[in-house]
Amino acid sequence: MSAPTVEHVINGQRRSTGGDPIDVTDPATGRVIAVIPAAGQAELDEAVAAAQAAFDQWSQTSLTKRAGVLFAFREQVASRRAEIEEIISREHGKTRPDAAGEITRGLEIIEFACGLPQLLQGTYADQLSTGVDTYAYREPLGVCAGITPFNFPAMVPLWMAPIAIAAGNSFILKPSERDPSASLKLAELWAAAGLPDGVFSVLQGGPALVDAILAHPGIEAVSFVGSTPIAKHVYERGSAHGKRVQALGGAKNHAVVMPDADIDEAADHLVAAGYGSAGQRCMAISAVVAVGTEEETGPLIKAIAEKGKAVVVGPSTSEDSEMGPVITAASRDRILSIISETEAEGAQIVLDGRDLSVPGHAEGYFVGPTLITGIDRSSRAYTEEVFGPVLVVLRAADVDEAIRIVNEGPYGNGAAIFTSSGAAARKFQREVQAGMVGINVPIPVPAGSFSFGGRKASLFGDTHVYGREGLNFYTRAKAVTSRWPDSALRPAASLAFPSEPRH
Ligand code: NAD
Repeated sequence: MSAPTVEHVINGQRRSTGGDPIDVTDPATGRVIAVIPAAGQAELDEAVAAAQAAFDQWSQTSLTKRAGVLFAFREQVASRRAEIEEIISREHGKTRPDAAGEITRGLEIIEFACGLPQLLQGTYADQLSTGVDTYAYREPLGVCAGITPFNFPAMVPLWMAPIAIAAGNSFILKPSERDPSASLKLAELWAAAGLPDGVFSVLQGGPALVDAILAHPGIEAVSFVGSTPIAKHVYERGSAHGKRVQALGGAKNHAVVMPDADIDEAADHLVAAGYGSAGQRCMAISAVVAVGTEEETGPLIKAIAEKGKAVVVGPSTSEDSEMGPVITAASRDRILSIISETEAEGAQIVLDGRDLSVPGHAEGYFVGPTLITGIDRSSRAYTEEVFGPVLVVLRAADVDEAIRIVNEGPYGNGAAIFTSSGAAARKFQREVQAGMVGINVPIPVPAGSFSFGGRKASLFGDTHVYGREGLNFYTRAKAVTSRWPDSALRPAASLAFPSEPRH
């Protein structure tokens, strides 16, 4: 039996194309489970034309009607979440509880966007000068595009589309070609919520489609989430084509553990944050900075190794699984080679996930939890984003040295500290160069009413995604200065720029 085709959604219609096929693989078995015929320039042109026509209507639709669609979409996602979770686990490989968490986070963003009548309120200065009022508000941009990574096939699109659409834009999603099907379920739920055709479209494809999006004159803004080299490429190329771009990149998130922390609790959190989703989260902890002497830090390393060893690795179809496979064979091979290279450099592999075997899944892309100590900071296991279940441990003498180590890294997504000292926590929060900081919280993903984004090589562009920052990204300001005819208040016109204060 041939694998099913993954379609596009253009102007509300499910469509297929004859483009270059891309295989979608079940990472737990290595089997091809679907095929994407990639969209080309013709499909992109068609989707953009439909999105432009839809924008003309949608941007003029009242805020209360738009809010009604957002509320209905929230109900659709909440009541059909099991279907989305099943799709995510099947194509991505993450466990069902992990997929469920992704939907919960996505719902937070939709709920924020439901407040659009209030969020889009502007400001008004009555009688700014005599007989003159000034008011400012924000308008939507037009057709916006989202290009998303494999690791959160529903949540990351939900970071973007509800905010863009609430603001009055239309939105074209180009999901990851590794796990494309959740995007189609989202399109189905938008339609069921009453969103007009063409406001939300989906185009399937890979790098060639991304480059076509970046060059398309009908697209005003691009939101990207993915690895750093591609984020940089998207930012530079999209900006060169005159688009507004926000491009979130990769990460190497550190957790600093002070000697005064509750070691058992910290170890629990580090195992969850380091190995959850097989380490394939942009907010995963991949480097632990253990502060203190060898006697002080030894129990932490021992506790992480013991708890990491107990993690049940298996397919998402087993309820016992706590951690699934990594996304591709290439990804697995890369992770294994980084571990071996680090060992050859003299590091200690305290917990070794290289020879893990999952019964009945010999062809799956599984790597077990791995813990590495004694690492040189020039090692690839530290300089690169491994994006697998690999935790490296560094040592620091005190909080100052720990902060310096964190800040010397090229990324600045999340950073966490475990401590019972308010002074150490406050110092860390104020001095660390990261966009999101956790204090005794390992994965400090901000709630939907805040905004998500990093610094340095983790974010190209000015604004975070979702929350108020996301709303600003998808809108532009307009300020109106207004005077109505009234002879008593009308000042004399002058060819000179006004030099007196407003009166
Ligand atoms: P990726 O960069 O390989 O792919 C992301 C998107 O870019 C996909 O839609 C893909 O089709 C497209 N793409 C890939 N190669 C391209 C190329 N050469 N030219 C143009 N487009 C291209 O990322 P991924 O492997 O899907 O996702 C994992 C990465 O995403 C990790 O680096 C992770 O840290 C990062 N990520 C970051 C955040 C964040 O908020 N900062 C969130 C999630 C994931």
